[in-house]
Amino acid sequence: MTPVAPMEKTAPAESGGPIEEPIPIRAHSLLCLQGYKGLGYSPEFIVMMNRVSRALENNPNIEVKVLAGEDIFCRVCPHNYRGRCMADDPVDRPVPTDSPDNSVLMDRRVLQWLDLKEGDIEYWGSILYRISRNVDSSVMDALCGDCRWREYGHCAEALDKLSRDTH
Ligand code: SF4
Repeated sequence: MTPVAPMEKTAPAESGGPIEEPIPIRAHSLLCLQGYKGLGYSPEFIVMMNRVSRALENNPNIEVKVLAGEDIFCRVCPHNYRGRCMADDPVDRPVPTDSPDNSVLMDRRVLQWLDLKEGDIEYWGSILYRISRNVDSSVMDALCGDCRWREYGHCAEALDKLSRDTH
């Protein structure tokens, strides 16, 4: 699915009340959040990304529950089919299989890379520190593979900046 354009500031990004805490975020999305610039899979998805990224930016002490599967973003994502990410599945094979989807495999790689376990709860500031010490654009082939968002360059730029700023 083609990423949709950034939404106007008038989008209902502020609605919905406080974000649940700990915020359930799948491991690979911890990296996606670094390069987030208002693009996403649907308006609802972008609203949730806006809400969560703003909450995290404002509070390094907010708790995050790290997952390897459906998270707060998947809940509003058009690619979510009963908890399975169908973003990379061919359209003519809409029935989920038992094998882990591409997003889960990415989550597992990121968990291992950051020395985290599925279900860990950590402060956002601590997760940021882990990312800054262990991830920059040079390891994106290993972690992100051929993710469609890489072509924008936002993630590489943000991950390199985070790494530089803390070294
Ligand atoms: S369902 Fe897939 S594409 Fe959608 S947010 Fe979850 S991992 Fe990303």
